Amino acid sequence: DGVLYIVATPIGNLEDLSRRAVAVLSGADVIAAEDTRHTRRLLDALGIDVPMLSFHEHNERERHEAILDRVAAGASVALVSDAGTPLISDPGYVLVRAARARGVRVCPIPGACAVVAALSAAGLPTDRFAYEGFLPGRRKARDERLAALRDDPRTLVFYESPHRIAGTLDAIVEHVGPERELVVARELTKAFETFYQGTAQVVRDQMLADDHGHRGEFVLMLAGQVPSEVPAGPGPDADQMLRVLLRDLP
Ligand code: SAM
Repeated sequence: DGVLYIVATPIGNLEDLSRRAVAVLSGADVIAAEDTRHTRRLLDALGIDVPMLSFHEHNERERHEAILDRVAAGASVALVSDAGTPLISDPGYVLVRAARARGVRVCPIPGACAVVAALSAAGLPTDRFAYEGFLPGRRKARDERLAALRDDPRTLVFYESPHRIAGTLDAIVEHVGPERELVVARELTKAFETFYQGTAQVVRDQMLADDHGHRGEFVLMLAGQVPSEVPAGPGPDADQMLRVLLRDLP
């Protein structure tokens, strides 16, 4: 029977492609790629010559059934995105969901993923974290999302692009707070890999002052809110107030 392979590709450093990924890509009948020109460069570097078809967010809904028909007919299909793990802020969800509904075998080929790489070296708590992907593009929705996440105790992870990084850093300082601990991983696995760490205010100032600080690709990691030492619940003042109120009841 056919298999749909979900293959992780590098996020910057070609050496991060696993041997298993190379074997699966070489042996596939077809490679479904987010951007065929981009993936062609990777395949050329590896000396792999397998037919490709384009599969991205705009044709995912029309194309997925045809791809699954091929897998059901016995083909081995490999899904790749431009970088990292497919489905993680990348196309593939519609395809994998439909594959599972049809009983098609789906097999992950794990590898690079910016969230996990960033967390593994950030030094923030990783026992509980929440991946928030990209913040909404519109300012109001972005600010509301940050405000809603402010009290979350988990480490929060965001993806960000170069043209929005400055605005997002400002919004974090404003809506989460200047003192919250922030780590930003920039250009992971590439020549200019940099980690910025400190309070949100310090990291923002450092990155905006750095000539290259707003160029490249970013993972932002915010420490979760630390519960205050004072236990919650009614204190002596609340008890006192209740007694006064009860006294006045008939
Ligand atoms: N599927 C990918 C993964 O597994 O990480 C993510 C794809 S998403 C469209 C692209 C975003 O991932 C970038 O805007 C950036 O936030 C993050 N990213 C990807 N590669 C990165 C890298 N080398 N360094 C830092 N962030 C990266």
